[in-house]
Amino acid sequence: MALLETTGLTRLFGGLRAVDRLDLRVEEGEIMGLIGPNGSGKTTALNLITGFIKPTEGAVTYEGEDVTGSPPHDLAGRGLVRTFQITTLFENLTVRENVLHGSHLDNPTSLIGALTRSRRHREQHAALDARVRETLAFVGLERRIDAVARDLSAGEHRYLEIAIALAAKPRMLLLDEPATGLNPEEAAYLMNLIRTLRRRGVTVLLIEHNMRLITNICTRVTVLNFGAKIAEGTPEEIVENEAVVTAYLGKRRGA
Ligand code: ADP
Ligand code: MG
Repeated sequence: MALLETTGLTRLFGGLRAVDRLDLRVEEGEIMGLIGPNGSGKTTALNLITGFIKPTEGAVTYEGEDVTGSPPHDLAGRGLVRTFQITTLFENLTVRENVLHGSHLDNPTSLIGALTRSRRHREQHAALDARVRETLAFVGLERRIDAVARDLSAGEHRYLEIAIALAAKPRMLLLDEPATGLNPEEAAYLMNLIRTLRRRGVTVLLIEHNMRLITNICTRVTVLNFGAKIAEGTPEEIVENEAVVTAYLGKRRGA
């Protein structure tokens, strides 16, 4: 059984087939790459899978259950967690506060505890703090816990976004172009983070522009062009695939 499967997944925007009958299978423990030229439907596919938009047709199955149209927070609660292509950090808050708010660990019920200053609340608070620190340590940001987000480097921004996703304890993590804006060193660090995640049992769907990153860490790669899958295979198979090379050399729709 695949951990995640899409069948005939389709999304129209007006007359545009942003995602076109996509069949995708991701097995537990894989790092599946999802690549394709700009506008080929990668982000839309991820939005469909994680419930941010609804498909026109087709289905999404997660852990063997039909989850088509389930809202994002339900899916996140089941361990299907994403990051965004465009940063969603609170730039004026600290790293710690970003993890707490971004992962919804600071749910409002704990406020009652805060008011009564109960022992239970103090214990919860300590457990929460430990979890935030553990998550930040994993991405190498523990020292920066009290830094304000706007003072972080581009790389640190990305690691923080990943920390926020990890705080939700994902079984499957979907990353939308995490290496964008990173220098080669930062990208290499990110690559190692993703590898470590996999060793810890997290399944990954990785949208990425950086082909080096894709070929280095993905177990398999799916290639989209104009919303449809044009190739699927190991990184080695993909870079040799003629349809993929043609798509990347920039044949335009209708050309
Ligand atoms: P990618 O992530 O591969 O660059 P996207 O999934 O963002 O591609 O976009 C696929 C296509 O769908 C593009 O042509 C884009 O302009 C279009 N598109 C994406 N989102 C919307 C939207 N909300 N409304 C209309 N068109 C959209
Ligand atoms: Mg995109």
